[in-house]
Amino acid sequence: MTSSPFETVDCVVIGAGVVGLAVARALALSGREVIVIEAAEGIGTGTSSRNSEVIHAGIYYPKGSLMAETCVPGRRLLYAYCAEHGVPHINCGKLIVATDAAESARLGEIKGRAEANGVEGMRLLGAAEAMALEPNLQCTAALFSPTTGIVDSHSYMLALQGDAEAHGTMLAFHSPVERGRVTDDGIDIEVGGAEPMNLRCRLVVNSAGLHAPALARKIVGMPADRVPTPYYAKGNYFTLAGRSPFSRLIYPVPVPGGLGVHITVDMGGQAKFGPDVEWIDDIDYTVDPHRADKFYAAVRRYWPGLKDGTLQPGYAGIRPKIVPQGAPAQDFTLQGPAEHGVAGLINLFGIESPGLTASLALAEHVRRIAGNS
Ligand SMILES: Cc1cc2nc3c(=O)[nH]c(=O)nc-3n(C[C@H](O)[C@H](O)[C@H](O)COP(=O)(O)OP(=O)(O)OC[C@H]3O[C@@H](n4cnc5c(N)ncnc54)[C@H](O)[C@@H]3O)c2cc1C
Repeated sequence: MTSSPFETVDCVVIGAGVVGLAVARALALSGREVIVIEAAEGIGTGTSSRNSEVIHAGIYYPKGSLMAETCVPGRRLLYAYCAEHGVPHINCGKLIVATDAAESARLGEIKGRAEANGVEGMRLLGAAEAMALEPNLQCTAALFSPTTGIVDSHSYMLALQGDAEAHGTMLAFHSPVERGRVTDDGIDIEVGGAEPMNLRCRLVVNSAGLHAPALARKIVGMPADRVPTPYYAKGNYFTLAGRSPFSRLIYPVPVPGGLGVHITVDMGGQAKFGPDVEWIDDIDYTVDPHRADKFYAAVRRYWPGLKDGTLQPGYAGIRPKIVPQGAPAQDFTLQGPAEHGVAGLINLFGIESPGLTASLALAEHVRRIAGNS
C-alpha cells in the first residue's frame, strides 16, 4: 500500500450496479455514512444494463435458497418501490410454454416449486386456453405466472441513486478500487483513476459484479480460500423489428444454465429474444450474428410465425457465475464476517438473475449483516 494518508469513512460500497445502489440506499436510510465507488463513468454500465429487465415472480429457485428468499419478497418490494417512485414498469404476466408431452409433464413440477417459494396465482392452462390468450403462440400446455413483469431498469437505478443521495450518500465515478488491506482499525482501500484516494473504512461492501471475486483476492487479509473462482456465461439477445407479437412474456421450459430463449418486451413494446447460454473465458459483449440460426429454431418451437431474416443482433450480458459449466446451479453468495472471518467486509458473489428483481431484498440482507459486523 502507498504511504499517503487514509481518509476515514464509515461505509464504502464498491460498484454502482443495481445491487450496489440498493445496498447504498439501505445503509444510508439506516443512518450510515456511505460512499459508492464506481470504476465506470456512471451507474449501471455493467450487468445491470445488460439483462432482460424482467421482474421475476420467483418460480424456479430451490426452496430455501437465497435466490428464492430474496426474489419473492424482492419482487413485492420492487413493485411497491416502482409505484411509489414513478419508475416505469408493467405487470404483464408470463407464460411458460410446453411444446411436447415431456415438457407438458414438467409444468406441474415447476408450479409446485413456485408455490413452495410462495409465488402467488400460478395457473396451469390447456393448449386452447393459452393460445386464446396469445393467438400467435403454439403450445401443448402452459403455466401462467400473473406476478411477472418488466421494469425500466435505468429509471429504477436513477431512483435508487436519488434516494441514496437524498440520505447523504456520495458517488465517485471513474474510480476503480485497486487493492485493499485488512487492518486492526478497519479496511484500507486504494482507489485509482484520475483522482486517486486512500480510504480507511469501517465497512466495505464488495458489490463489483463480474469483478467481485478478483477484487476480493486483492484485499490482503481476506482468506483466499473463501473466494470463489469466477466463470462467465454470456447471454446473447436478438431483437425483432416492429412491435411484439405477444402481450405477455413467453418462456420455454427451462434449460440447464439458463431459462431458455424467451421473448420479452421492453417498456417501448419492442420484442427481444434471449438470452442464450454461451460459456466464455473472457469478458466480451460481442453478439455473433450466426447465433441467430439457433434462435430461429428455438423460438419457432412456440412461435412458428417467426419469419426468416427478422432477427437482428441486439446486445449481450454476462452471468457472473461462481460454478463451472455442468456443475449444479449456484445460489447468490453473501459473505460476511461469519463466513470469512474478516470484520467489516461483505462480499456479494454470483449475483446473476434474479439480482435485479431481488435487489431491494438483497440490500436488506446486507444491511442486517452490516448491523452485526
Ligand atoms: C443475460 C442476463 C439477463 C438477466 N436478466 C435478468 C432479469 O430479467 N431480471 C432480473 O431480476 N435479473 C436479471 N439478471 C441479473 C441482473 O442483471 C444482475 O443480478 C444485476 O444486474 C447485478 O447487479 P450488480 O450490481 O451486482 O452488478 P453490476 O451491474 O455488474 O455492477 C457492478 C459494478 O461494479 C463496478 N466495478 C467492478 N469492479 C470495480 C472496481 N474494482 N472498482 C470500482 N467499481 C468496480 C462495475 O463497473 C459495475 O458498475 C440478468 C443477468 C444477465 C447476465
